[in-house]
Amino acid sequence: MKIRAVNLDAYAKFVMKDKFSNEFSIVRNDDADKLIKSKRYKSLSPANIITRLNNNRERFLPSLNKTLLIIFSDFSVWTKFKNLPKISLGRLDTSYKPDKEHIYILKKTLINKNDFYNELNKYAESFIDIDTATNITILHELGHAVHHQIEKLNGRYLHEGTEEAKFINELMSFEELAVSQHEMSGKIVEIEMIGRQATREGYADLYCCILLDKLYGRDKAGFIIKAIHDYREAVNVTERYYTHDSINEYLTSEYRLDFKNFNEIHSYISIVVSKYAIKHINSDSRSFFSHSNFLGVINSVFGINEIDVKSAVKKIGDRFPFIWVYHDKLVPWRFEHGCEDGEEWLTNRELNKTQRSKRAVKAVMENKLNKIISNHYRKRS
Ligand SMILES: [Zn+2]
Repeated sequence: MKIRAVNLDAYAKFVMKDKFSNEFSIVRNDDADKLIKSKRYKSLSPANIITRLNNNRERFLPSLNKTLLIIFSDFSVWTKFKNLPKISLGRLDTSYKPDKEHIYILKKTLINKNDFYNELNKYAESFIDIDTATNITILHELGHAVHHQIEKLNGRYLHEGTEEAKFINELMSFEELAVSQHEMSGKIVEIEMIGRQATREGYADLYCCILLDKLYGRDKAGFIIKAIHDYREAVNVTERYYTHDSINEYLTSEYRLDFKNFNEIHSYISIVVSKYAIKHINSDSRSFFSHSNFLGVINSVFGINEIDVKSAVKKIGDRFPFIWVYHDKLVPWRFEHGCEDGEEWLTNRELNKTQRSKRAVKAVMENKLNKIISNHYRKRS
């Protein structure tokens, strides 16, 4: 895989203007200390890191015959205009779009008061300049991109190096169908959400941290990664990325400089993010009504096939010792619903992707229609 930046010159011009005003406002705010500290480190521009990534492809990127575009979408009037016919900028955010397979970087991530760049600096021990913030953003989105590409290549969501990763792979293939099917996802939606966020965002964050280490060196990367960790931990209540534990494990492990190639990075990330996804599923499960539904889904999807909840949880405990069961929270009828959902999923799994997405769209439409009808009657009654 190769990377190509689009409109990088528009970004560079924007930064020239912004650098002065930002540094000025920091000094004015008596934060001169932070700024002086950060001057110890040489700044890297996005152009620098993209060149370095392309020159070290086998170490950092999956081996694929593909050029990934990083599009700086709206950093000048001209680039904004050029992009308009293709994408509606109003709804676009900084992101990797899996359907287009491009990364979009938008100005608002860096200039809006409550957006990433400004928020991150609240948690940084020395000032993180705008190029570094942009590089963090690029590397995070690149993490999503390489995850998507390697998933397509291997046909597996995560590398199955551990039982936890195998379990998450199964749970995520369930999610692929269930997320748009209201009648199923309504019941274990929180668990899917945690599993998905902790692994997808966790993948992107860990990939970003590993590459920061390689590109900036351990000294500077250390304080940037610490800031990302503190930021993610503090905003988790609202952001719900569940990635801070994975970042902390990386930050405190001896692995930090030891990856020889992309596959080693991929295996390592798969192990760490699945471990912490399950940790968060376990600890948050206690407060979910759907705890028994979840156990019912496991019971049928993994072929445990027990009829009553008590014997099922015993077998689940033997087979998946990392899944916590709250015995005081077991509700037999919820467990049975979970079993039915799991069975339905198994039947649907035999359908091909197009058939499945047709069914999913149909389910969403039916659900919307049901809501309209029930609202209509509610108003009348
Ligand atoms: Zn992300």
